[in-house]
Amino acid sequence: MKKWLSILPLSLILLLCACQSNDASAQIFAMDTVMDLTVQGSGAAQALKDAEAELYRLDTLLSRQDSASAVSALNEGAGSPVAVDEELYNLLQTAAEYSALTDGAFAVTVAPIMDAWDFTGEHPRVPSRAELDNLLPLVGDERIAFGASNTITLEQGTAVDLGGIAKGYASDRLADLFAADGISSAMVSLGGNVYVRGAKSDGSLWRVAVEDPNDTAAYLGVLSLQEKFIITSGGYQRYFERDGVTYYHIIDPKTGDVARSGLLSATVVSNSGTMGDALSTALFVMGYEKAVQFWRTSGLDFDMVLCDDSGHVYYTEGLEGSFDTSLAEHAYEYICIPKN
Ligand code: AMP
Ligand code: MG
Repeated sequence: MKKWLSILPLSLILLLCACQSNDASAQIFAMDTVMDLTVQGSGAAQALKDAEAELYRLDTLLSRQDSASAVSALNEGAGSPVAVDEELYNLLQTAAEYSALTDGAFAVTVAPIMDAWDFTGEHPRVPSRAELDNLLPLVGDERIAFGASNTITLEQGTAVDLGGIAKGYASDRLADLFAADGISSAMVSLGGNVYVRGAKSDGSLWRVAVEDPNDTAAYLGVLSLQEKFIITSGGYQRYFERDGVTYYHIIDPKTGDVARSGLLSATVVSNSGTMGDALSTALFVMGYEKAVQFWRTSGLDFDMVLCDDSGHVYYTEGLEGSFDTSLAEHAYEYICIPKN
């Protein structure tokens, strides 16, 4: 090796060394969650800066907590047409499409119900059945009317909450940004939403742990992948307890209640962050049987890992070979789901 190095020009040796030291990583807080970003190779430092700026930009555009965001302006204008940014218009159209595809299991119009529960506030509460029944008529993505010139009209009382799709969308934007910056190796984790770009710079696959919803210090298994979005929805990610009962932030839009489908987590592996995010939320709401039926019949290209409350971990056949469960710490029954 030494002999080989000695015949390389100095500039090339410096370049080889630089490739290692050019790796850049950061942890930031945006979109109400902790985000870890790692970018590898030449140009990594600049791409990392660009990625951070993009995430803060999207936070300002899409956050419902920020009263100055474009989403807040849209919600405040419910009942009349509001001209929105083209990007928001397109994302809401995509969200409404996933709502239709999932028979309303995914619904960005769940906002009034989220407010009643106040999961993100200081005093989360359990709304009464009567209160939820009063709010349910406001929910349904068909209550979003898409007009000309990026104009949207929300029906009176309706509001949108992009919390179930925004981080996945953000990972798609980072993929575009890395492509523009000439980055071929990166891994980002946006609060449970992971995107692995290409393979690692040493040529090996990225290894992404799927968290154990019963014990977040452990995992269900490890996925070895390249160029994929791995997105998880789980009741364990945001919750509160009241009188011995756990209430979490994923809502069944048909009842307004916490989605208790028997699933503890749903992970989607696909080529689109936006789709993966919408589907992980929807599959969690659907539960095992409907989720498998959806996987088989929807025509959408994705794989999934589902963990239920009876000790089963289901994974679809596309993940066979890439889902390593040998290091899982807890005893689950692992079942591969065939396409037919
Ligand atoms: P996720 O972690 O992607 O499953 O998203 C959960 C977040 O999406 C919640 O914090 C809410 O902001 C929103 N949400 C909850 N239930 C739904 C639902 N059924 N459809 C769409 N968004 C939802
Ligand atoms: Mg989601």
